[in-house]
Parts: sequence; structure tokens; C-alpha cells
Amino acid sequence: TMKRPHNFSAGPAVLPEAVLRQAAAEMLDWHGCGMSVMEMSHRGKQFEQICDEAEADLRELLSVPDDYAVLFLQGGGLGENAIAPMNLIGLREAHAADYVLSGSWSVKSSKEAKRYGDVAVAASAEQAMDIDGKQQGAWTYMPDPAAWKVRPQASYVHLCSNETIGGVEFTDWPDLAALGAPETVLTVDASSHILSRPMDVRRAGLIYAGAQKNIGPAGLTIAIVRRSLLGKALPICPSAFDYGIVAENDSRFNTPPTYAIYIAGLVFKWLKQQGGVAAMETANVAKAALLYDYIDSTGFYRNPVHRPVRSRMNVPFILRDDALNAEFLKQAEQARLLQLKGHKSVGGMRASIYNAMPIEGVRALVDFMKEFERSHG
Ligand code: PMP
Repeated sequence: TMKRPHNFSAGPAVLPEAVLRQAAAEMLDWHGCGMSVMEMSHRGKQFEQICDEAEADLRELLSVPDDYAVLFLQGGGLGENAIAPMNLIGLREAHAADYVLSGSWSVKSSKEAKRYGDVAVAASAEQAMDIDGKQQGAWTYMPDPAAWKVRPQASYVHLCSNETIGGVEFTDWPDLAALGAPETVLTVDASSHILSRPMDVRRAGLIYAGAQKNIGPAGLTIAIVRRSLLGKALPICPSAFDYGIVAENDSRFNTPPTYAIYIAGLVFKWLKQQGGVAAMETANVAKAALLYDYIDSTGFYRNPVHRPVRSRMNVPFILRDDALNAEFLKQAEQARLLQLKGHKSVGGMRASIYNAMPIEGVRALVDFMKEFERSHG
């Protein structure tokens, strides 16, 4: 069969080919039951098995401790911008939450949260700053955790640990007790890098992620919540989005996105076969190094992000001359390198190189970029 093109979309994004093939083979008849997964009751024994295995595999992959619930929800990342405050801002009397602003997605999160309580900025990368003797532009670095201003009365601090548009990744999650806020919990939007590397789940009270980047189809949202935080949702919180109610009902309070959970489950099994998140991290480090090293070696392409926080998943880069963008994208598509257009807010290109992107895809991209530089540089 014909090789598929390499797909660099930021999301919905490339999935492992083996998973797509298995899903295709099982489309009409899952394991001899005579039904497609899409046709099964979410209360039946077949789907119960699919859902329970997906949860168990995700727990194993991320070493999720028993005192954390793993929830399969709907609403996506932007839904969580409201769902997380509705569940957690009432944890403490002040109904306050502090947000670390590191790019578009965290800014969006903070704006939405204002509808639910007293929101403040703990730290922001909005201003250009000198770091290590180099001028870093707005949204190209991570504010130093030692300087985050966390109000001791805040219910939580929110962080986006991988800014998908800016390409800024930050996994050194701080201990909030050391910042003078021992009662405050960390909440993390990990949508665009969950499962790409080990993560210290215990550092956070809540980790959430839309599935459509590193996990599976759009429509599924994962939330990993410390159980002691459940049951404190604001009275206005819809029951279907109340983490406590969803946890009590094993993610089947309402009809969950069953097919998306099934595909996510196949991806979790694929990840386990690959050696889990530690093996993924090794592969992702190699893929990112290949691309960043080449970009840094040219004057033709440029990535503006502070090196220690460059994302391994989303690599934005600009061409020396914006007038070449359309030609770059056209030729890339001819070379079967798809969806490289950067987000409109930063321009240029973006290569998203999630778990399912093989290193051959990154090699093909670098070879193409070299050739394009040679003929247009
Ligand atoms: N957070 C992050 C980090 C994202 O990358 C995205 C989607 N690109 C979102 C939130 C929004 O997710 P959704 O479209 O699922 O609402």
C-alpha cells in the first residue's frame, strides 16, 4: 500500500497508523460481537471493558496514583477553561484563582475564569525580557516560578504546560508550598504534550487535556483530579461537568464520547507497546533536536523561543522572507508534508511533531527545508 503523507497538524493531529488500521478492521464488528463500537450502549459490557481498559492503561502510562480520579469528559480545552474553575475555585472561601500567562491558551483560560471568581495574574511573559543576556520577545519564554505571585488564599494556580501556538513547554512544575501557598493547588492544561514524557502527576491537583493532539479524536477530554478536591463544585456547575459526579459514575454519568474513548484506548495500547512515556520522551527529544538543530544552523529559518523551554511537540518557525510562505507551503504539500502553516497570530510555519509522528517524518521535513533554503536562500 501507498505510504501516507506526513501530517504536521497541531490538532486534530496524526494518529499512529497501526491504530487507524485496527480501528478500520474492527469498524463493522468489534471482537465478534456484531456491533461497531459506535453502535454499543455505553452501559453494555463491551463498552464497559473498552472504557475500563482505557482508564487502566492511561493510569499505568502516567503512573497516576490511586488517590487521583481519571475522567473521560467532553468540552475540550476551552470547555475546561470554564469547567475547571466551576469545580475548583470554590475550594477555598475567597473563590480566587491565579493564572500564569505564557501564551494564547493560558490567556484564554484566565479570561474565561473571570466569570467564576476573583482572578489574578501570578506571572506573565507578555513583556519582552532579557534572559541570559539575550532579548526574549513576548510569549517566547516562561516566567521564573521563583517569582510567581501566588496569593495564599487562592484556590488554585493555573498553568498551560505546553503553549501549542507559541511553542513554549514547561514541565518543572513548582511546589506551591515553597511559594508561600501551601493550601493552593496547581491546575495544568497539558493538552498538547500529555503522554509525550513522564509527568509528576502529584505536583498537580488537576491535569486536563483535549484528546485531539496526542491521544485520539476530538470530542474527548481527559481530566486527572486529586480525589480530595472532588465534590466542591459551584452550584451553577452542570452535573455532567461536575468532576465528583463524573468520578462517582466511572465517566458514564451521561453518554461519554464512546468512539473517541475507544480510539484513545487503542493509542494507549500502542504507547505501551512502544515502551511507554519514557521511550516516547527519548524519541521526542531526538525528533525535536533534529529540527531545532537544523533551524538554528541556518539564517534562513528562525525559532524565537528561549531554548530551555522550547516545545518538543510544537515547533514554530519563520522564514527569512514572509513573501516565501505561500511557496513553501505549496512545495511542502507537493512533497507530501501536510498542514505546516503557522497559527495566524504568529505567522510563518509550525511543525507539530506529536508522539505519532515518526522520526522519518521529521527527517523528511528537514530535507525539504534544506532543499527549499538551497533554492530560495
Ligand atoms: N489548550 C491548549 C494548550 C490547546 O492547544 C488547545 C487547542 N489547540 C486548547 C486549549 C483548546 O482546545 P479545544 O479546541 O479542544 O477547546
